[in-house]
Amino acid sequence: MSNKPASAGELFVIAAPSGAGKSSQIRRLLERCPNLAFSVSATTRPARQGERDGQHYHFIDTSSFQARIQQGRFLEYAEVFGHYYGTDRAHVEQLWQQGRDVLLEIDVQGAAQIRQSYPDACQIFILPPSMAILKKRLVDRGTDQPDVIERRLGEAQSEIAACASFDWVVINDDFDQAAAELASIVCAWPLRAERQHRIHRHLLAELLAKP
Ligand code: 5GP
Repeated sequence: MSNKPASAGELFVIAAPSGAGKSSQIRRLLERCPNLAFSVSATTRPARQGERDGQHYHFIDTSSFQARIQQGRFLEYAEVFGHYYGTDRAHVEQLWQQGRDVLLEIDVQGAAQIRQSYPDACQIFILPPSMAILKKRLVDRGTDQPDVIERRLGEAQSEIAACASFDWVVINDDFDQAAAELASIVCAWPLRAERQHRIHRHLLAELLAKP
């Protein structure tokens, strides 16, 4: 059963192994789709250089995170690379109340939780075009040591193995093409017949009334 009010905006989930180019694609998608709001997660991971509290993440300590788990304040949460990450339930609900669609950038464990609690969420997985390119992107980023990169590549494979559970898979080879595909998915998702029948029942009743 979905916990989302029928009139609420849509819920989109994007997952990808690190190095698949997810962040740049999400930036482009948010520019193209002004009604789409990014949900800023909470994390216990320390901020990287250039990351701002409240913009990239809400950086909090482990005991605060655990208290929030106890209080049921997360829509989903998971431990990834030794740190906690979670989606703030109240923030997402507030965005829905404002009529916005919400985008979660989360890992495959969080996506699995959302699949249970919000089965009508749109789940998209972004794949890199090859292992060699995934590795090159991680190296070029220059944020991780070689041992961390090797670990991330191993973890990427277990993430990629979960992509069959997603509704859509986009391969981020040509950036513009992948961006167009993502935007198409976000545009088309609210037009599902089941939803259209629900939202436009008065129109359908009128169109189907005896002439
Ligand atoms: P990073 O530390 O590189 O920003 O993110 C590491 C992983 O955590 C990525 O796969 C990212 O999508 C995931 N992540 C970020 N925020 C959340 C969240 O709120 N929930 C879950 N489950 N994963 C998250």
